[in-house]
Amino acid sequence: MSSLPIETNVLIVGAGPAGATTSLFLEREGIEHCVIDQSTFPRDKICGDALSGKVLDVLARLDPTLVEEMEAKVQEFLPCYGITFVAPNGTELSIPFRTKIANRQTAAGFISPRLDFDAFMVSKIRPERLHTGCRMVAIRSTNAQGSQGYHEVDVDHQGKCHTIRARYLVGCEGERSLVAKQLAGYVKQKEHYCAALRAYYTGITGCHPDNYIELHFLKDILPGYLWIFPLSNGRFNVGIGMASHQIARRKVNLKAAFEKAIREIPTLRERFLHAEPLTPLQGWGLPLGSKRFPLSGEGFLLVGDAGALIDPFTGEGIGNAMKAGYHAANYLGSSLLKGRREAEWLRGYDQLVYQDLGGELQIGKTLQQLTNYPRLFNLVVGKAAGNTELKGLISSMFDDISLRNKLRNPFFYLRILFN
Ligand SMILES: Cc1cc2nc3c(=O)[nH]c(=O)nc-3n(C[C@H](O)[C@H](O)[C@H](O)COP(=O)(O)OP(=O)(O)OC[C@H]3O[C@@H](n4cnc5c(N)ncnc54)[C@H](O)[C@@H]3O)c2cc1C
Repeated sequence: MSSLPIETNVLIVGAGPAGATTSLFLEREGIEHCVIDQSTFPRDKICGDALSGKVLDVLARLDPTLVEEMEAKVQEFLPCYGITFVAPNGTELSIPFRTKIANRQTAAGFISPRLDFDAFMVSKIRPERLHTGCRMVAIRSTNAQGSQGYHEVDVDHQGKCHTIRARYLVGCEGERSLVAKQLAGYVKQKEHYCAALRAYYTGITGCHPDNYIELHFLKDILPGYLWIFPLSNGRFNVGIGMASHQIARRKVNLKAAFEKAIREIPTLRERFLHAEPLTPLQGWGLPLGSKRFPLSGEGFLLVGDAGALIDPFTGEGIGNAMKAGYHAANYLGSSLLKGRREAEWLRGYDQLVYQDLGGELQIGKTLQQLTNYPRLFNLVVGKAAGNTELKGLISSMFDDISLRNKLRNPFFYLRILFN
């Protein structure tokens, strides 16, 4: 392992999907940088493990053979060809998805334990850039102002304290980001936050033969859902998540809600009859992108969960973290070239991210709000489930963002209801 640098152009804190992607795109441009992570890989991260088409799209931009590599690792990456939504009244809407990567038809996404996916991503980082078992403990930004400014970051590396001086600091430490809290003044807001529990199971029956992921919108946990995502080797990622302000307001015990659902809802009870948990239910938070937080400031950027970029409806955050990582690397490239690091200039990164993801996050917010009206949600799902043409339209929305924009328009739902 190479020794930690005293100085670097760009210090990336966190080597999850956000940090790894930022590093890989910086590397492509030949930009000197350093990545630290408090963990050593492979490591688990509590997650649903679903990798959307967005993940494949970013990987293909980096190198199309990465997607082929994933396809070949069948024990780690299960291809997924669709999604099933289950409305509060039990009506199911199954939508098949296909996608094209580098003109080749592939699965729409994969389901892969984060233990495997994150290790896969980290294995692509140039080894001399990466320092694992290295935890950022403090940031001193007294010298952060102006084009000659820098941040001083204290890290604990295998029990020893070091200081790294960085021109740009990239906060990729996930939902408990110190960079976000200390430099961007991020404060958790329950209205834009979700709490979730996850467990691995074996022996669940009745899943779709094409490995569809399932979102069950149960009336007791709206806005939120219970999920069942199949994995390779007969395992399943199962969990439950709900908007934090509603958990607090209605005093919901998520673990009890999960156990009640698989015990009392007839369809779930039957499917869990011979199921065995492989792990306990474990919790983690999701900072939702239903509100725009600042993603940058003097000499720093936030990427992924550190910038609250998770889709408020689906809970998808990996693809968004990777897209933001792509934009961060590109923007840092031109910032270094121009010697610009002041807050006003770096705001251009926020604009790029929100131009790319802002529309989708807004759609997610609209759909999350729709689940506040269970009867309307039941009606919309029911009508859509019985309409082949509409299912085809929703399926093509996966690839076509201009079509997806229809989801923001109330007339789209009125059309469904009165068709
Ligand atoms: C229960 C649950 C289910 C989810 N399901 C899905 C899903 O199915 N699909 C999906 O797309 N998204 C899902 N998400 C969201 C997804 O997990 C996140 O959006 C994603 O992990 C964000 O990636 P990231 O790189 O920003 O952060 P993380 O993946 O959290 O990575 C942060 C990294 O930073 C490191 N770190 C933290 N602090 C420090 C420090 N002080 N010093 C050094 N290193 C540090 C950590 O060790 C970690 O490796 C889910 C989230 C939860 C909680």
